[in-house]
Amino acid sequence: MKSREELIAELHELRQEHDSLKAAFDNYIAEHNRNEKALKESEEKYRMLVENLNEIIYTLDYKAVITYISPNIEVITGYTPAEVTGRCFVDFVYPEDINGRMEQFHKILSGVSEPSEYRMLTKKGAPVWVRTSARLFKKEGCVTGIQGVLTEITDLKQAEQELRKAKEKAEENNRLKSLFLANLSHEIRTPMNGILGFAELLKTPELTGKSKENYISIIKESGDRMLDTINHLMDISKIEAGALTVLNSETNINEQIIYIYNFFKPEVRQRDIHFSFKNGLPDDQAVIITDREKIYVVLTNIVKNAIKYTEEGTIEFGYHIRDNNLLFFVKDTGIGISKEKQEIIFDRFRQVDESHTRSYDGLGLGLPISKAYIEMLGGKIWVESAQKEGTTFYFTLPVNYSARTLKTKDRLHEHQKPSEKYDFSNITILIAEDEKFNQLYLEEMLKSTNAKIIMAGNGQEAIDYLEKNSDIKVALIDIKMPVLDGLETARLIRNKFKNILLVAQTAYSQQHEIETAFKAGFDEFISKPIDCHKLFKLIKTRIN
Ligand code: ADP
Repeated sequence: MKSREELIAELHELRQEHDSLKAAFDNYIAEHNRNEKALKESEEKYRMLVENLNEIIYTLDYKAVITYISPNIEVITGYTPAEVTGRCFVDFVYPEDINGRMEQFHKILSGVSEPSEYRMLTKKGAPVWVRTSARLFKKEGCVTGIQGVLTEITDLKQAEQELRKAKEKAEENNRLKSLFLANLSHEIRTPMNGILGFAELLKTPELTGKSKENYISIIKESGDRMLDTINHLMDISKIEAGALTVLNSETNINEQIIYIYNFFKPEVRQRDIHFSFKNGLPDDQAVIITDREKIYVVLTNIVKNAIKYTEEGTIEFGYHIRDNNLLFFVKDTGIGISKEKQEIIFDRFRQVDESHTRSYDGLGLGLPISKAYIEMLGGKIWVESAQKEGTTFYFTLPVNYSARTLKTKDRLHEHQKPSEKYDFSNITILIAEDEKFNQLYLEEMLKSTNAKIIMAGNGQEAIDYLEKNSDIKVALIDIKMPVLDGLETARLIRNKFKNILLVAQTAYSQQHEIETAFKAGFDEFISKPIDCHKLFKLIKTRIN
């Protein structure tokens, strides 16, 4: 039997043992808690990492079923991880890309790992581009499927596509530029050869009158063609620079049509073509407010093309009233334009035949210029055509009737007879022009009308004459002149001599000049090179 002291000592030992066991246990618990916390922290860290990645991490089993996918899948596709996990991944692939994806999946299973791109489908059914790289996924040495990373690249793809398109466009522009330069060289050299060659031949002493006439008409035709080229180049460069303005004025559409008809009639008469026009309004109602020069350019371009591309048959042009628009048409029975080419001919430099052996001249600028002009005036232009049957170009213009009633019939009468003699023997015309060649040209041109002509070398000389004389009815004034320019001259004349008809001579392409000319006090403008019929008609209408 243990004594009391022995029992107390044993109890004491036991308590010490208990205390040390408890301390060890507390230590263990604290250690365990620390480990658990570290594990949680580590887990949290990896979860945050995965969630904050732009990339998506996924695993598939060897049957292509999604076993894990990181939450970002929702950002890209709109599906939550729970909606996709357990489903075959092809359910989320864009249909056209499914075959490619399956091939890729089997490649990865056979150990080949390479990045690839394809389209996934969002929950709303839209395609999104992704790039993925994946490899075999092993657990304890056994292949259980694949694991991979997926990144959305839709923006990148779009940028790539835009870049590719821009590259193709740049290559196309480069091709067109070379073609354009070759055509331009041809379009300048051919008339130049005509002008220089036949000007040289004119020197031949034994030349008959008929040959001389023939040579002169070739020189004139070549000059006209060159002027056409220059006008087209000026027009297109202004369109591209956005430097065009609309200059509205009262315009008799019937006059325009008849003028163009008369202008082209001699050219068409030489061929087996029936040429006619149709005006959709009576003459006295055909005055609308529009940009006369632009309509003239468009109609001229299209009618000229009809003549160029028609060997025989008919060419008819004119307009009808459709709703609140004038519907213009130019219809020919020429070579026609295939459907696919109809889409490109309104683009600059484009032609149906772009080969080096093409049989038609031209720069491919007439239609793009016409389109730009018509759209500026609030209309539309289009073509209907069948190859070998013919072509009809249409364009619309909003009708904006003029309030002023014009003596239209009288004017038209003049137009129909461009060869009519004009008698200005009771009119004195003051010409302010500094270029000797132009002075001579105007004098020669006006000779047949018997007008009395006063020539001034600049604006100041013109004013000096007017101060001392009162016989001037018409003043034909150049804009660019030394000493006193045309605008200043017009302002001074307008202030002092109210009844003189002030006509500005302007380079055809300088539209803004025309606008400023009207502001300075001019009544009319006439484009250089001056068309004598236009000028005579204008003087007759305004003075008589
Ligand atoms: P260009 O006549 O100077 O080549 P355009 O811009 O006026 O330039 O016309 C572009 C192209 O459209 C022409 O080259 C021609 O191939 C085609 N085209 C235009 N008008 C006609 C037409 N009436 N008949 C057949 N082809 C036409």
